[in-house]
Amino acid sequence: MKAVVIDSKNMLKMVDTDKPQATDSKLVIKVERAGICGSDLHIWENGTPAGLIMGHEFSGTIVEPGSARQFQPGDRVTAIPGNPCMECKNCKSQLLNLCVHNLDDAPGITTPGAFAEYVAVSPVVVHKLPDNLSMDEGAMVEPSSVALHSVRLGHVAPGDKVLIVGAGIIGLLCAAWARICGASYIALSELNPVRREKALAYGDVDEVFDAAEPKLQKKLLGLTDGGFDKTFECAGPAPAVQAAIGATGYNGTVVLVGVNYSLVPISTMRVNLREIDIRGSYGFTAEEFQMSLDFMARGVLKTKRFVDEMIGLDGLQTAFEKLHDPAGSSVKILVKPY
Ligand SMILES: [Zn+2]
Ligand SMILES: [Zn+2]
Repeated sequence: MKAVVIDSKNMLKMVDTDKPQATDSKLVIKVERAGICGSDLHIWENGTPAGLIMGHEFSGTIVEPGSARQFQPGDRVTAIPGNPCMECKNCKSQLLNLCVHNLDDAPGITTPGAFAEYVAVSPVVVHKLPDNLSMDEGAMVEPSSVALHSVRLGHVAPGDKVLIVGAGIIGLLCAAWARICGASYIALSELNPVRREKALAYGDVDEVFDAAEPKLQKKLLGLTDGGFDKTFECAGPAPAVQAAIGATGYNGTVVLVGVNYSLVPISTMRVNLREIDIRGSYGFTAEEFQMSLDFMARGVLKTKRFVDEMIGLDGLQTAFEKLHDPAGSSVKILVKPY
């Protein structure tokens, strides 16, 4: 089968490789759509592990159910990109996203993923797609669940004033979920003017701000009578984390969703004085994955609007370059591998 692998720093390559086989613990899915994620971009920048097939947000049809009786060939599905051990303390508490063996077998992250014609995953993590959801939407369930998990950790409640830092797909999905949860005012800060405009156009955000604007913190604190109730840091860089904390009000919550491999200096004094709650967010639970599917099937969470472009496997390198460009306008690019 055709697949795309990491070649070196900032470089992908197309390869011919063996199609995965069904086993006692794995079934095989023909990939229909795979989304490019911000975390894929980090792996691409680092260029390691070489040879990895990325792609952890996907939808497809089952071709070989293996020993999984609950699935038939032709079933339309999406899957959680993990293979929880079901034995560690966290798995036993149903906190599957915090499985201590999380990265041992995470399709697209540590083991072969969906930037390929076929992908093999554990039946435990496979969810059927409701009939009224398209394959495009199927590939959006994973990022939607990441955002849902964050918004649930932030306990967004009706009437909350919410700030989103960063207009990438996760920031935009956090805005969408915050609106569904009843936030009364949603602001978003972002450096890229094209992305700011797009964020406004999607309709979940009330106001957008240039993250580089001098005295933005003072302005935001004034607008919200002392700071936001809930802030979602969805960018990663240190100035974004600092801005998120700086704009959060007394007893407010900052949820850290963005990825940063380096240490980030923050004002602990500000956190003390305002008694700010800082929470980390990683992945989502199986329950939240199903919740995203249900909200999408009922038309409450709308995700098609975020898809900018559909490409083939041969378009992946260019798509990564486009998404990497700080001045670029792309939000979500989906791959159709055949
Ligand atoms: Zn992702
Ligand atoms: Zn576990």
